[in-house]
Amino acid sequence: MSTNLDLHDLSVFDLAAKLAAGHVSSVEVTQHFLNRVKSEQLGAFLAVDADVSLAQAKAADLRLAAGERTPLLGVPLAHKDVFVTRDFATTAGSNMLANYRSPFDATVVSKLAQAGMVSLGKLNCDEFAMGSGNENSAYFPAKNPWDTSRIPGGSSGGSAAAVAARLIPAATGTDTGGSIRQPASLSGITGIKPTYGRCSRYGMVAFASSLDQAGPMARSALDCALLLSAMAGPDLDRDSTSLDMPAVDYATDLIASHPNKQGDSAPKHPLKGLKIGLPKQFFRAGCAPDVLRAVRSALAEYEKLGATLIEVDLPLTELSIPVYYVIAPAEASSNLSRFDGVRYGHRAANYTDLTDMYKKSRSEGFGDEATRRIMIGAYVLSHGYYDAYYLKAQKIRRLIAQDFQTAFTHCDIIAGPVSPTVAWKIGDKKADPVANYLADIYTLSSSLAGLPGMSVPAGFGEGGMPVGLQLIGNYFKEAQLLGAAHQFQMATDWHLRQPEGSV
Ligand code: GLN
Repeated sequence: MSTNLDLHDLSVFDLAAKLAAGHVSSVEVTQHFLNRVKSEQLGAFLAVDADVSLAQAKAADLRLAAGERTPLLGVPLAHKDVFVTRDFATTAGSNMLANYRSPFDATVVSKLAQAGMVSLGKLNCDEFAMGSGNENSAYFPAKNPWDTSRIPGGSSGGSAAAVAARLIPAATGTDTGGSIRQPASLSGITGIKPTYGRCSRYGMVAFASSLDQAGPMARSALDCALLLSAMAGPDLDRDSTSLDMPAVDYATDLIASHPNKQGDSAPKHPLKGLKIGLPKQFFRAGCAPDVLRAVRSALAEYEKLGATLIEVDLPLTELSIPVYYVIAPAEASSNLSRFDGVRYGHRAANYTDLTDMYKKSRSEGFGDEATRRIMIGAYVLSHGYYDAYYLKAQKIRRLIAQDFQTAFTHCDIIAGPVSPTVAWKIGDKKADPVANYLADIYTLSSSLAGLPGMSVPAGFGEGGMPVGLQLIGNYFKEAQLLGAAHQFQMATDWHLRQPEGSV
C-alpha cells in the first residue's frame, strides 16, 4: 500500500516499523527521499545515483518479502564521503580524490548494507575531514538548514545538514576531534562518537589514525542506537585498532521504554541516581551566554528527571587545543603522504621530472587546510622539534586521559556544551584557521582520551540556531550515554523541532 504521508518526518525506528508491516516498500521510501535529495539546495550531497539506490531498495524489498525482519531493513541513509564505497565515487571532500572509485566498501558501509540499509549517496565534508564548518570542502560549502547563510558545522557538515533537513533519516559521520558532535549540535540533530576502536576504521580515508572514529548521526538517540548496533563490532583482521569486543545491541533497552511500545515498562536507563559531572572549565566566559543558557536548562531538566549534578575538574582542557593541533597534523602528514600522484591521488598533467611531478600533483590536489596541516605535521615530527612538540603533546595527551578517569571516580557521565557558540556565518572564520581550531575546545579533550561522546539537541540560542548538550561517557559506556539521551528525549521535544522550508 502506497502512502503519501510525509515519510521524511518519520524516524528510522518508525520507518523500519512501517516497512516491516508492509505499509510501504523500500523502493517507495527510497524514491521519496531521492526526490528530496534531487531538489536540495544545501550542498549536502557530493554523489547521488538513483539507479544504485533503487537497486539496493529492491533487494531490501525482496528480503522483507521473504520474511526477514531486522531493525534497519529497507531504511535509507547516506555516508560521509570519507567512507570508501564501490557504488559511489569517494572524494573525502578533496580534489586529490576527485572521481576516485574504491574497489571495496568500508567495513561500516558493508555492515550497514548487510543490515539492509539503502545508501542514497555520499555527503559533503571538509577536505580529509579537516575542519569545523564544512568550508574546507574542495567542492562547495554545505549550508545549515536552520539558516542557510550559516555553516552546518564540520567536518561531517553534509551529514548534519541532510539529516536536519530531513533529506535522509540518518547518516554516517566520523569524529577525529568533534566532527560528529559539533555538526550535530550546530544543526540540531543527535550524534554519537563511540569509544575509539568500537567501529572499524577499515575503508575510512585516514586523517589522524589514533583519533578517527565512525559513528551515526540521526534525529534521536534511539535512531543512533539502531545504527550503532549495526556499525560497531570487531574487525581484527582489517583494523589493528579495532576493539576485540562483541557488538552490542544498543537499541532494545531503549525501545522497551519507547512511547510507541505497548505495555510500557520502566525505563532501562533511569536517570534517578545518575551523577552528572560538569567540568568547571566548560562553563566559563569562553562559552557564549546563549549556549550556556540552553545547556543549563537542559541540565535542569536532567535534575528534574532524577539526576544529580556535581562539579568536576578537567584542568588541562585548554591544552587540548595545542595538543590536538600537534598530534592530528603529525598523523595527517604521515597519512596523506600516500597521495603522491603515483600510488594514490591526482597526478599533474605537466611536469619536468619526478620531484616536479610530486610537487605539482600535491599542490594541485590538496587545498589550503590540508597543506597547512601537512606542513605543521612534518615540522613537529622533524628532527630537533619532535621532542619539543610531538613527544610533549603525547605526554599531555596521557595526562588529559588521566584527568577524565579522576573525574569519573566522582560521576557517571560528564556533560557540558559541545560548541562555544551557535553556528557562525559562512565566511566568518574562513580566513582565520586558529578561530576554527578554538571552536573545538569542548570536543577535543574527550577525543584525545578516546572516550565516547554525544550531542543531544538541547534548545536554541542566538538567531534561533540549535544548541547541543554534550554527554561524555567512560570507555565502552555508549549504552549508558544513549540511555541518558533517550530519557531526556522522551521528556523534551528539542530533537523533534525542524527547520522551516529548507528544501
Ligand atoms: N575540527 C577538528 C579539525 O579540524 C575536528 C575534525 C574532525 O573531527 N574530523 O581537525
